[in-house]
Amino acid sequence: MNAPIGIIGGSGLYRMEGLALDRAVAVQTPFGEPSGPVHLGALDGIPVAFLARHGEGHRFTPSEVNYRANIWALKSLGVERLISVSAVGSLQARHRPGELRLVSQFIDKTRHRKDTFFGGGLVAHVSFAEPTCTHLSGALLATGRALSLPVEGDALYVCMEGPAFSTRAESRLHQSWGADLIGMTQVTEARLAREAELCYACIALVTDYDAWREEEEGVDATSVLEVMHANVDKAQALLRQVVPQLSGAPRACACGEALKAALFTAPETVPAEARKRLDLLVSKYGYGMVD
Ligand SMILES: [Zn+2]
Repeated sequence: MNAPIGIIGGSGLYRMEGLALDRAVAVQTPFGEPSGPVHLGALDGIPVAFLARHGEGHRFTPSEVNYRANIWALKSLGVERLISVSAVGSLQARHRPGELRLVSQFIDKTRHRKDTFFGGGLVAHVSFAEPTCTHLSGALLATGRALSLPVEGDALYVCMEGPAFSTRAESRLHQSWGADLIGMTQVTEARLAREAELCYACIALVTDYDAWREEEEGVDATSVLEVMHANVDKAQALLRQVVPQLSGAPRACACGEALKAALFTAPETVPAEARKRLDLLVSKYGYGMVD
């Protein structure tokens, strides 16, 4: 079964409501094991692949998530469009807890994670100026508005390493940069999705005001969880509405050709190991196991 639409669920979204499960697949990848089995099934008749980012029971910290294996597994199952759902903190008063935002830009402050498939003899530099798919984000925004959900687009997301939340000084620094949201996962997924030539969009669920507000206590996990559960219902409604619209519509963006001008290494110098490891991504450009 091929699932051209993939969903990664973050904190609070561990299973996709309404997904008629066909099977759960434990995918082996050249980059190790994904966070858990990929759930393949139909959402209102449309084939969908679902993966819980932090594993079943929420077992992996943002630093421990094997992002490469997750993206690889979804790609290997035929995913072309990937919608990622993630809890975030708000850095601006206008982004209120309980609201949804679509991310269009990132600032990457991560430090302890693998965020590229390449290296080991094959170098690629993908374009990342527009790190999310504007077509996919646009579809989510239009659908969210049609459903009268509290959603806006064009958010700037700071991705921190975690797992502790920000200090007040860090929070104010990020705010002074003009950033909208803070989270711990999305930029890494976006980088890898681009290298895997997937359309990638991020539904950010605002759960709290981070630590910049003097009048707030700062972030604690209990209040985040309460708002998060309410947000997840909105995200599920948005997903169920947008998936049928995407199904069958050919991609009209450049995401599917992200590697076309990105592969810098002369093909004849690429070692067999790298060809084997990256076959799924690069065989169409003549770098595969068998040319
Ligand atoms: Zn795209």
